[in-house]
Amino acid sequence: MSLLGNMHLREEKERIFCTFPYFEKIPFLLHGCSTRFGGISEGVYQSLNLGLKTYDDHQRVLTNIKIFAQAIGAEANRLVLSDQTHTDHIRVVGKEDAGKGFCKAPDYHDIDGMITAETNLPLLIFAADCVPILFVDPVKRVIGAAHAGWRGTRLQIAAKMVQAMQKEFACQPQNIVAGIGPCIGSCCYEVGEELYQEFEPLFYLQQEKQFFCQTKENKYHLDLVAVNEAILQNAGLQKEHIVNAGLCTCCHKDIFFSHRGHHGRRGLCGSLIQLQEI
Ligand SMILES: [Zn+2]
Repeated sequence: MSLLGNMHLREEKERIFCTFPYFEKIPFLLHGCSTRFGGISEGVYQSLNLGLKTYDDHQRVLTNIKIFAQAIGAEANRLVLSDQTHTDHIRVVGKEDAGKGFCKAPDYHDIDGMITAETNLPLLIFAADCVPILFVDPVKRVIGAAHAGWRGTRLQIAAKMVQAMQKEFACQPQNIVAGIGPCIGSCCYEVGEELYQEFEPLFYLQQEKQFFCQTKENKYHLDLVAVNEAILQNAGLQKEHIVNAGLCTCCHKDIFFSHRGHHGRRGLCGSLIQLQEI
C-alpha cells in the first residue's frame, strides 16, 4: 500500500479502496473508502461506480458494490445501504436489516446516517464530493457512517451521529474516533453569498481553521472538512481522534468521482465500515 493524502491506497487490493491508518489499528474493524478503480462500469462511470441511483447499468453497479465489499472482506449480501437525501436522519441498524438497500428492498427512507453495534453488518454510504464520515467507538464497539454534503454539514449530522451513539449505546464522545473521507476540498469548492449566510450560525464553532475564504466579491471557498472537524470537536471528540483523508475529490477526479470535477456526469464512491467478530 502507498500513502495517498493521509490515507493508505490499497494497491494489494487492486487500488479498489483506501483506508485510514488510525482505523487499521483497530483489530475488530473493517473499513474503506472506494476509488474509481477495479470496477466494470464504462464511460463517465468508469469503473467502480457504486451509485444504484445513477443512470449506469444496474447489474454493473450491483457487481461493483460486490467487488468493493469483497475487497474489504465484507459479505456483500449483508450490506445495509443508506437512502441519502441530504437530511440529518440517523437510523440504528440491527441484524434484521442485513441486505437492505442492496439485495432486499429497504423499509426506510431519507437516511443519511447509520449506526450499529452488530458484528458482520457492513454499513455503506455514498459520496461524490460530499463528505463521508466513518465513526467507531473502540470501547463500546459501536460504528457509524454518515453522508454530509453542505446541507448535512449545516444540519450538523456529524454531531447528531455522536449524540445517537451516546443515547443508543452509551458511548462516551471522548472515545469516539471519526474519519473524514475524500471529499471536495476548499481548493475547489467555490460557493456564493447564500451558503456563507447559511453557515453563519455555525461560525461560533470556528477555531484555528476558517470555514470560508473570500476570493472575490460574493465568492468564497468553503472548507467542509474544517466545518465537520469543528462540529465533531464541539460534540466532544478529542482532536487526535478526528482523522481526515486530506484528499480533494475534485483535484483527484482520476481517482474518485467528483460531482464538480466531472460536471455532474459521474458515478458515486462508497465508504464502508463493519465490526468484525473476533
Ligand atoms: Zn481541490
